[in-house]
Amino acid sequence: MSSPIAARSSQLLGARLLRPANRELRTFFTIGVLVTATTISAATLEQRIDEAAKRVEPSVIECRRDIHQHPELGNREFRTSKLVADRLQQLGIEVRTPIAHTGVVGILRGGKPGKVVALRADMDALPVVEQVDLPFKSTVRTTYNGQDVGVMHACGHDAHVAILLGVAEVLASIRSELPGTVVFLFQPAEEGAPQGEEGGAQLMVKEGALDNPKVDAVFGLHVTSRYPVGEIAYRPGAELAAVDSFHIKVIGKQTHGAYPWLGVDPIVVASQIVLALQTIPSRQLDISLAPAVVTVGMIRGGVRNNIIPDECELVGTIRSLDAAMRDDIHARIKRTAEDIASSAGAKASVTIDTGYPITYNDPKLTEEMAPTLRRMTSNIEVVNPTLGAEDFSFYQEKVPGLFFWLGTRPKNQTAEQAASNHSPLFYVDESGLGLGIRAMAHVAVDYLRK
Ligand SMILES: [Zn+2]
Ligand SMILES: [Zn+2]
Repeated sequence: MSSPIAARSSQLLGARLLRPANRELRTFFTIGVLVTATTISAATLEQRIDEAAKRVEPSVIECRRDIHQHPELGNREFRTSKLVADRLQQLGIEVRTPIAHTGVVGILRGGKPGKVVALRADMDALPVVEQVDLPFKSTVRTTYNGQDVGVMHACGHDAHVAILLGVAEVLASIRSELPGTVVFLFQPAEEGAPQGEEGGAQLMVKEGALDNPKVDAVFGLHVTSRYPVGEIAYRPGAELAAVDSFHIKVIGKQTHGAYPWLGVDPIVVASQIVLALQTIPSRQLDISLAPAVVTVGMIRGGVRNNIIPDECELVGTIRSLDAAMRDDIHARIKRTAEDIASSAGAKASVTIDTGYPITYNDPKLTEEMAPTLRRMTSNIEVVNPTLGAEDFSFYQEKVPGLFFWLGTRPKNQTAEQAASNHSPLFYVDESGLGLGIRAMAHVAVDYLRK
């Protein structure tokens, strides 16, 4: 297929020399012309990707609405998973499923040898009752940890699945020209697996999603109402936080509320621990290196006003953006709780459960791919990290990866007005999806051609 850009360039160079239709002949040309011919070939492919992205956009939007209306919670994405596998098969893409419960891996082998790049979309929805008034609004209900809940794509993973299926279609249409292999990772349970189950990116990795073919780099995006339609935002290095949870049990000695000296009051000890934990980020860590947060989200102890109880429990979350600092915070939480308890004659037992690692954009890969992102839109921003977390980080622990934000906030709203991800009012402006399709497709192709 000839294209206006190739035609224009061949005029510049002289059609006599180039014979643009015979790109394969370029190796016979002199070095100078060879370089130019490669550029023309590149321009052609870029343009074809953009044309294909434009072509698939309406079906991507339709697909996103369908998934939005039929949201499924983590490890229960049966319908979504089947929709994905069927679509990939229609496109002639090799499909591996199930993986990590309801996951699907698609493998598109290009016509030329080369590296292996993975593109990821998460598929799960949240236990949220949708309050957005849309013709394709979710009315789905299900049971979650024993509770009856509504289900909504309140984090926009419906958009991620639809975008990546669009990208699969775009890349399948240029398969013969792809120098390498594209692996599509459709992943369950990013928001966390149900109690007692494994899931998400960690299980995808464990079950070999990055092996065979062995993936060299991984890319992913997330829609957000923080940024408007047309914007891409990213950050080299730590972009999202590691998330860990802690549980502290303070054990005192029960007695009458009127005679505290006859027991050991775990509520007063727990209160001291709550305050002291706040001094870990504010007084003990070098937060000029990276921010960190320790939050006590739950405190529970006692049954009535005049009994000092035996025990008091504290539960909280830890967010950090530096691996060494993360370990340090764990040690300090343990020491703070145990030593304060001991000073009062109580005991504290501390359990820390590690959650998602730091979403860390490999600096070299980010630098290499930044020109591609910049080519996609003039509205591009290098942003501050956020203390939210993403299980995309498990892929990045294995291979270099880049995760970027795609703005889907309506242009007539400010960031303050727009409902955030996870809100029952979270709204994706679909006019922002086209940029996501282009960005993912170009990032994959540019990576393979490097
Ligand atoms: Zn989320
Ligand atoms: Zn999400």
